[in-house]
Amino acid sequence: MSAKIINGKNFAQKLRAHIANYVQQLKSKHNITPGLAVIIVGNDPASKLYVRNKAKQTLEAGMNSFKYELREDIKEKELIALINELNNRKDVHAILVQMPLPKHLNATNIINAIDPTKDVDMFHPLNAGKLMTGQIGPVSCTPLGCLMLLRDIHNSLTGKNALIIGRSNLVGKPMAQLLLRENCTVTIAHSKSVNLPNIAKQADIIIAAVGREKMVKANWVKEGATVIDVGINRIDAPERGEGKTLIVGDVDFDEVKEIAGAITPVPGGVGPMTIACLLANTVTTTCLINGLRPPSNFTI
Ligand code: NDP
Repeated sequence: MSAKIINGKNFAQKLRAHIANYVQQLKSKHNITPGLAVIIVGNDPASKLYVRNKAKQTLEAGMNSFKYELREDIKEKELIALINELNNRKDVHAILVQMPLPKHLNATNIINAIDPTKDVDMFHPLNAGKLMTGQIGPVSCTPLGCLMLLRDIHNSLTGKNALIIGRSNLVGKPMAQLLLRENCTVTIAHSKSVNLPNIAKQADIIIAAVGREKMVKANWVKEGATVIDVGINRIDAPERGEGKTLIVGDVDFDEVKEIAGAITPVPGGVGPMTIACLLANTVTTTCLINGLRPPSNFTI
């Protein structure tokens, strides 16, 4: 049996339409236009493309987009000075520093400099703590997008065995917290996990967030399981022309779709949801900063 292909692109498009609607209401009823500031350091082409897409979609949703492209060798002090300026600006409700940063910059210092109320990717330790203790607020964009897709597939996640492969602060750990809140039995695997294929075989839900192309194979997956592929891996594709590349996930899509119950493709699965959730989180931080209740369908 072939799996249901989860169309993250369509889902994200609908979510963006809701967001644009809500932004219009914020403008007309409260005279507030949400503002997202994105900072990128250096010239990494993939990061530049993400930031361009984020800015485009922010504007399309009717929000203000402020983009800062900084030189590769910028000093930590200068970057923190810009963050402080944005922290104090009334028209900026959300701040995102595109990762990864060049090696000479200490990512922890940079993240900790962001005002937690404007920390739209929920990297700040205060926000990570809020997530862990179940307090209201935005949730990291990629895990939130994955959860929205899972909720759309399953009436209830209670009691499901969920395996998350990867334990990063960006994806794996917040994803685990969200699924715990949904009453899943959660396992987090990482590079030192032993017998991963056997662990995976027990899971009703697999979330792969590793960064290794096609690592999850069909014989790792229980029949009917839901498989969410967060991974983005660029591989050479000479058949498409010289120097061409192809983006693939952490899951061997072609073989796993024959055994899974539902699966996200790469591209077109989690990726578009991440950007849509960034916009949703910008609305959420804008509401919270202004003492308004955030719309329940944009958060959890
Ligand atoms: P990190 O590199 O921060 O984390 C990768 C995790 O995978 C680590 O916890 C690591 O374990 C684990 N890992 C590495 N090798 C193995 C292995 N052989 N078996 C099991 N676990 C392993 O990556 P991110 O979490 O930031 O991102 C993961 C992937 O998701 C990347 O491809 C990234 O590009 C993509 N991504 C996609 C997004 C989207 O919108 N679709 C958004 C964010 C990320 P250990 O801790 O032991 O080192």
